[in-house]
Amino acid sequence: MADFIDDAKIQKILEKNRNPSRERVLSILRRSRDLKGLTPEETAALLQCDEGPLVKAMFATAQYIKEQIYGNRLVMFAPLYVTNICRNNCLYCGFRADNKELKRKQLSMEEIRKETEMLVGQGHKRLLLVAGEDQNTSGMDYVEKTIKTVYDTRVGNGSIRRLNVNVAPLSVNDFIRLKKTGIGTYQLFQETYHHDTYKKMHPSGPKADYAWRIYAMDRAMEAGIDDVGIGALLGLYDYRFEVLAMLYHSMHLEEKFGVGPHTISVPRLKPALNAPLANDIPYPVSDHDFKKLVAIIRIAVPYTGIILSTRESAELRDGVFELGISQISAGSRTNPGAYVESCEHAPDSEQFSITDTRTQLQVIKDVIKKGFFPSFCTACYRVGRTGKDFMDFAKPGEIKNFCIPNCILTFKEYLIDYADEDLKEEGEALIEEELESIPSAAVREKTIQKLAMLEQGQRDLYF
Ligand code: SAM
Ligand code: SF4
Repeated sequence: MADFIDDAKIQKILEKNRNPSRERVLSILRRSRDLKGLTPEETAALLQCDEGPLVKAMFATAQYIKEQIYGNRLVMFAPLYVTNICRNNCLYCGFRADNKELKRKQLSMEEIRKETEMLVGQGHKRLLLVAGEDQNTSGMDYVEKTIKTVYDTRVGNGSIRRLNVNVAPLSVNDFIRLKKTGIGTYQLFQETYHHDTYKKMHPSGPKADYAWRIYAMDRAMEAGIDDVGIGALLGLYDYRFEVLAMLYHSMHLEEKFGVGPHTISVPRLKPALNAPLANDIPYPVSDHDFKKLVAIIRIAVPYTGIILSTRESAELRDGVFELGISQISAGSRTNPGAYVESCEHAPDSEQFSITDTRTQLQVIKDVIKKGFFPSFCTACYRVGRTGKDFMDFAKPGEIKNFCIPNCILTFKEYLIDYADEDLKEEGEALIEEELESIPSAAVREKTIQKLAMLEQGQRDLYF
């Protein structure tokens, strides 16, 4: 075996755990309520169970865990696509080099500033930088300048406080440079962990090298970036295999660096221009299986955030939040320059078509109606609670004394600076309710003081 993903072993575990008994599934679910996660064998048993009442029990357990650790908070972000020029030929992506119909565009620093202004003007505090892979145009110098431009952009009271980055795998030296720019999470999806499928999906370009990609997080961590985000593009291969492989990836990072991934993303394959695989999905994942796999990830790695994007419909997103999602994108566009151009769909320049096209304001209103609390918090990485420090701190009691107050404070800022009158009224009532759920009376008191300071014009207050 050349790397830490052993395809045969994963297939064997899945095979061995076919049709698990009712007692076994229930006993795994009972045990998982200790919030210590699952072994690969236990995870495989849940993945291989399709009995209706038992899947319902999985949903209930995932909800319990989500509630214990994350409460009703949902952290908001938007992607910022800066270039769609790419040397790779991933069979599923609209940016693939062979797609000659795609209008190629790399944003200048001025255009990036304008895009950032649009997003800051909507109230965003957290963005995800996304780029195609092309050393000649979007190498490390460009990435560094882009990050600086985003962080330097200010509109009124607003600015981007945490920029996460999803760019092609880097060398240790370039990761060191990336770390110095002050990014939040480095995010990279393996797409498929299944070696043969990976080879078929990535026929040419630097991405054809599976090993370079699978060890990207090792290099990032060696360079000192301790918040990393992994993911698999669902639809390329059997989702059961991918979920188990992501667990092995987590275990590998935990064993080697003492901390697993900060987040797991669960992108499902969407139609894309001239991308043969995106329009004829090899292993489609049904909505039901999608919910099930989110619930299983929540149970298997309770302290790892799960990210849900606008690839999914508003309806599905609403139904899956409670199963363990901790971060969502809103008001997204997947073509460079789209926020300024303000176009909902641009088939000739976007990476794939998004499904949830609601504005950020509408998503916030809808999220609240469903009983969730939108958060713009970026406190942890700014006070150094990253990597292992974050995981040590992320125990239910602790998290409630920091995250709820920070969520309340950032939401209050949003209400003052960006909300319409309806949302302001609804939001203030929500804040009153949430204050009650802060366990420590002293922290509650301090939060009330900070809320008053925000009213008086101060900003960016956190615990
Ligand atoms: N180019 C870099 C790379 O491939 O890692 C970084 C960004 S790439 C634009 C971001 C992610 O979009 C990919 O990792 C892939 O999982 C996802 N993606 C590509 N095509 C997609 C499609 N048709 N539907 C949904 N997601 C897609
Ligand atoms: Fe390029 Fe990334 Fe799209 Fe592949 S997924 S074609 S590497 S942008």
